[in-house]
Amino acid sequence: MASTGQAGFTVWLTGLSGAGKTTIGHAVAAELERRGLHVEVLDGDIVRTHLSKGLGFSHEDRDTNIERIGWVASRLTRHGAAVVVAAISPYDGTRKRVRALVEEQGPFVEVWVKAPVEECARRDVKGLYAKAFAGEITQFTGVDDPYEEPEDAEIVADTVSRSPEESVAFVLSELERLGVVAVGAPTAG
Ligand code: ADP
Repeated sequence: MASTGQAGFTVWLTGLSGAGKTTIGHAVAAELERRGLHVEVLDGDIVRTHLSKGLGFSHEDRDTNIERIGWVASRLTRHGAAVVVAAISPYDGTRKRVRALVEEQGPFVEVWVKAPVEECARRDVKGLYAKAFAGEITQFTGVDDPYEEPEDAEIVADTVSRSPEESVAFVLSELERLGVVAVGAPTAG
């Protein structure tokens, strides 16, 4: 395969449902694309309809899902893509394993999209917290399934103290500070 001439990397957004992974991930991806990078977004919800169709939410199935995403991210990183993953990825050990896999090919930047469960439940973007608190769905991360807080996150993006736009700008500036993304030309507006 022809090289893109671009050094690949993976930005891995982890956090509770409703914390802001998808919102931030898509906006960061759009900005990287605007800057001319080859970008691929791997969104946990979408992956579950394709690559991980049929998997549930047991510890084992969650690990399988994350490891599949990690494997794809690693292959894309190898070919010079800027990979943006948005997936709850609740277990620290699993995140460490996918980090090791990706780091064989290029940088791995873990972003903890941080909001407490009370705030995520208040947002309840998909109406899932109400169902989880009512016991209509089980094994819901942050309610009756664990979320292991990241130990290794290069970036901690608190989405309570920032607006979505501020969170996106913060993550981009951190990626620049880490040297993963070249400092971009100032955007108009
Ligand atoms: P996730 O992908 O983590 O499940 P979503 O991105 O789907 O979360 O939803 C997050 C919700 O929180 C959106 O409705 C978004 O507008 C809102 N929100 C509030 N503040 C922020 C912030 N600083 N960053 C990202 N999203 C935020």
